[in-house]
Amino acid sequence: MRWKEQLLTLTPYQPGKSIESVKKQYNLEQIVKLASNENPFGCSKNVLSALQSHQPGFAIYPDGYMTSLREAVASFLKVGQDELIFGNGSDNIIQIISRALLHPGANTVMATPSFSQYKHNAIIEGAEIREIPLLDGQHDLEKMYAAIDENTNVVWVCSPNNPTGTYVPESKLTPFLDKVPSDVLIVLDEAYYEYVFADDYYDSIELTRKYPNLIVLRTFSKIYGLASLRVGYGVANRSIIQALEPAREPFNVNSFGQVAAIAALSDQEFVQDCKKKNRQGLTQFYDFCERHNLSYYPSQTNFVLIDINADANQGFQFLLEKGYIVRSGSALGFPSSLRITVGSAEQNDGVLKALGEFLTQQNTAKLSEN
Ligand SMILES: *Cc1c(COP(=O)(O)O)cnc(C)c1O
Repeated sequence: MRWKEQLLTLTPYQPGKSIESVKKQYNLEQIVKLASNENPFGCSKNVLSALQSHQPGFAIYPDGYMTSLREAVASFLKVGQDELIFGNGSDNIIQIISRALLHPGANTVMATPSFSQYKHNAIIEGAEIREIPLLDGQHDLEKMYAAIDENTNVVWVCSPNNPTGTYVPESKLTPFLDKVPSDVLIVLDEAYYEYVFADDYYDSIELTRKYPNLIVLRTFSKIYGLASLRVGYGVANRSIIQALEPAREPFNVNSFGQVAAIAALSDQEFVQDCKKKNRQGLTQFYDFCERHNLSYYPSQTNFVLIDINADANQGFQFLLEKGYIVRSGSALGFPSSLRITVGSAEQNDGVLKALGEFLTQQNTAKLSEN
């Protein structure tokens, strides 16, 4: 069969290890998963009661226009209902954008290391990929701008960036938006938006009014705690939404996801509480790094990328055997770092204690070598 040539070089997404498989393999009773930036506090109670009283009729297709969810998000963000597109997670919107704008002969500009799905989808569409290395863990917007030419169709800006947790300050973003040609779509992926506390962070929804070639992506998977239900959305000028809509499959957000997302949005107290706990959790990691002389990127997200000065896979394996699933930096472009999701205070203490043991073991090994 004549498969797209570019597909032959791709491997499917490697998800983090599942709790059940690790339990079995290492004969552990308790596993803490800090690998996929899920919310350690689950989701709002409102979600559970909304789902309980939801009578979906399994035989009936979900509302393909997401009418109630659309109303809720539009009124929450104070945008028009026609300025929203919904996806089966924001991953799905990344796919829709790629499908709509990328093809052989076109190119796309992104930072590296950044979120893997931009590149993955661009490869499938056969577009040329222009990856611009991060500068001190941050997007190098000047070099990204310089990489744009008349065949550039999409530029990806992940802020805060996965896997570094760093963000683009407003003073750097707006001059970039000013310069990028108006026929290039700029995707601002804000999967961690709700965790951001930096003062010089921009109002991205406001920016979509000023820059009609900007789309902002957000998700219910992270702070809202609905990763399993798969709901994400994009906010942009209505002409962009209209152009993207035909590339969206008709029933891409299931009815449970729609009901849950509305309930989650209604509980901003839960969101604020998680944000506060996360910020406290980050300081546990920073204190640890400072005590052990490890470098890390200051994070505006619910994860930290820590340079453990050792082989990331070894660190990963050590923590795994102690019952902590984290993300090895080796597949993320940081071969001596671990990306660890901020958990509850107790989970953070636990994973850091185990990491401390790993560091001690490494030091002992080094000493005996000398
Ligand atoms: C988690 C994540 C997403 C995808 O989230 P969905 O679950 O598909 O909504 C998108 N972008 C970044 C940077 C992420 O970390």
